Amino acid sequence: MPNQIKPLYFDYNATTPVLEPVFKAMAPYLKEHYGNPGSDHAWGLAAARAVAKGRQSLADLVGCTSDELYYTSCATESINIVLQGVMASGGHLVTTAIEHPATLQTTKALEGRGVTVSLAPVDDQGLVSLDAIKAACTPETKLISVMLANNEVGTIEPVAEIAAWARSQGILMHSDAAQAVAKIPVDVKELGVDFMTIAGHKIYAPKGIGALYVRPGVELAPLTYGGGQERGLRPGTENVPYIAALGAAADMALADLDVEAARQRDLGTRLLKGIDGLGRPYLLHAADAPRLPTTMSIGFGGLLVGDILSGLVGEDVGVSAGAACHGDHAEPSHVLKAMSVPQDFAQGTVRISWGRPTTVDDVDDFVRRLGRVLSAL
Ligand code: PLP
Repeated sequence: MPNQIKPLYFDYNATTPVLEPVFKAMAPYLKEHYGNPGSDHAWGLAAARAVAKGRQSLADLVGCTSDELYYTSCATESINIVLQGVMASGGHLVTTAIEHPATLQTTKALEGRGVTVSLAPVDDQGLVSLDAIKAACTPETKLISVMLANNEVGTIEPVAEIAAWARSQGILMHSDAAQAVAKIPVDVKELGVDFMTIAGHKIYAPKGIGALYVRPGVELAPLTYGGGQERGLRPGTENVPYIAALGAAADMALADLDVEAARQRDLGTRLLKGIDGLGRPYLLHAADAPRLPTTMSIGFGGLLVGDILSGLVGEDVGVSAGAACHGDHAEPSHVLKAMSVPQDFAQGTVRISWGRPTTVDDVDDFVRRLGRVLSAL
C-alpha cells in the first residue's frame, strides 16, 4: 500500500469541521425531533426547547441574555441586517479599511442608496485607533462598525474603547465578531456594543447558521418579513438542528476557552519558531498587535503566494492566500494594502490558521512540508 500522508488543514479561519459533540447535539433534530418550533404539540415543543437551550448556551458564551440574540443564516446576513437596518433612512456610516467584504460590500451597496460612508485607516499593525474613528465621524454619523478580530492577520481591535466613545456621542456601534467568539473571551456588555455578529461555522458548528446580538431598546427594522420568528427581526422557520449545533459549540468553548486558547497560542509560538528556523526572509504581519491565538499571516520575501500555495497543495496542506495571483505578480489583499505591507512581502503572504483538532505533531509536520516547498522555490 502506498504511504499516505496526513492532509494538514491550516485554514480554520475559512471554516472549521463540525466536531463530534456538536454533531451529536445536532443529529436528533435532523431525524427524530423534526418538529417546527412554532407548533403547539410534542414535536413542536421538543424543537422549541432545543432552540431555547441553544440560545441560552450562546448567550452564556457572549455574556448577554438569550432574548438579546437573534439567529441568522451566517455572519454576512447578521452584518447586512445591522448595516441596512440602521442606515435604511440614510445618514453617515463609519467603518474600517480592513473589514470583511460582508461589511465593505454592504457599505458599497448602501452608498448607491444615498448613505455616505467613511473608511477609517489602520496603522501598519492593522489596528484602528479611536482617533481615526473620531476623525472619520461627522454630525450625521449613525453607525460605527469595527470588527473585533481581523480574519486575515488576526489583529484584535479596540472595540470597547470605540464603543464607549460612540455611546457618549449617541452613535450606534456594531462589531463583527465572527473570528473572535469562542477563540478569545468575548463579552458584549464589556464591549459595550449595540450589535454584534457571530458566525457558526468558524467555531465548529455547520455552515448556514449565524447570530446577531442586539442591545435591548435599540430599534432595528427587519430586512425580510414573514411569520414573526426571531421576534420579527429575522422571520422564517428556525434552523433547529443548526441552532442546537451552535449551542453545543458554545458549550464546548465555555468549558475550556482559556485552556484551549493558551494551547493554541503555544502552537502558534511553535509554528513561528519552526518557520524562523527555515532560514527564509519573512515578515509576520501585525507582529506587535494583540492578535488571535489561532492566526498567523506571514509574507515570504521575494516569493509569489501562488507558487507557495501550489507547493503546499502538492504536500496536501491547506492554507489561505493573502494576495491574489495575476501571472508574474500578486495583488495584495485590501487588508495588507491598508497596513502598507511592503509589496515584496505582501505578494508572498499566506494566512495560516489552526484550531481545536490541531496538534503539536501537525505543526511540526506543517513546518517540514513548508520547508520542502520553500526550498524548491
Ligand atoms: N466577518 C468575518 C470577520 C469573517 O471572517 C467572515 C468569514 O470569513 C465573515 C464575516 C462572513 O462569514 P460568512 O461567510 O459565514 O457569512
